[in-house]
Amino acid sequence: MDLRQHYSRFNTSSTPKPQAITTALDVFHVQASILCAKASDVEIWIRSGGHSFEGLSYVAQVPFVILDMFNLRSIDIDMPSETAWVQAGATLGELYYKIANMSSTHAFPAGICFTVGVGGHFSGGGYGVILRQFGLSIDNIIDAQVVDANGRVLDRQAMGEDLFWAIKGSDCLEIPWINK
Ligand SMILES: Cc1cc2nc3c(=O)[nH]c(=O)nc-3n(C[C@H](O)[C@H](O)[C@H](O)COP(=O)(O)OP(=O)(O)OC[C@H]3O[C@@H](n4cnc5c(N)ncnc54)[C@H](O)[C@@H]3O)c2cc1C
Repeated sequence: MDLRQHYSRFNTSSTPKPQAITTALDVFHVQASILCAKASDVEIWIRSGGHSFEGLSYVAQVPFVILDMFNLRSIDIDMPSETAWVQAGATLGELYYKIANMSSTHAFPAGICFTVGVGGHFSGGGYGVILRQFGLSIDNIIDAQVVDANGRVLDRQAMGEDLFWAIKGSDCLEIPWINK
């Protein structure tokens, strides 16, 4: 894939450019990118689907590198438990398509634009056409894997409930009208 297609939205001559772009193929590359950026004292900006309205995954006014997640896009659905692990670089369209191929009665509540990335969407809430009955995307997320600033890979149990709450942006379980 030509990486320039990803960044063309903000590619004017005056646009600040990243010092490097990492296209992680494995969680290990995410860990290494974070530790390397930290050691080099540059900010790291993460891109999943690239739909940030403000260009937050592309541009910065300080020295920065981009960690692009587009290669990490696997979707593993487990029908018996009605759950799925979705990597941040997958798009909503890929998620909907994969679910639809496995079931005609299952869905996941998320946005209407199929090219939006899971990484930015889920960490920002995620509203779509089945919101009224099933809530936001984040209301249906039961676990997550993050790499912290020290390069540790943490799941929900390891990160603790406070961080798990925080990476979901909010928690509508406490808003009674959403869950009726
Ligand atoms: C055409 C269009 C239609 C949209 N439709 C809807 C809709 O129907 N419903 C809705 O709720 N929203 C909608 N949105 C908003 C969209 O959900 C947000 O802009 C979302 O943040 C985009 O996620 P992304 O991964 O595609 O974008 P990106 O630009 O890749 O990321 C957005 C932000 O999240 C951060 N981020 C991305 N991935 C990660 C990661 N793995 N870890 C940590 N931080 C990360 C980025 O650094 C950036 O700050 C729409 C946006 C567009 C442009």
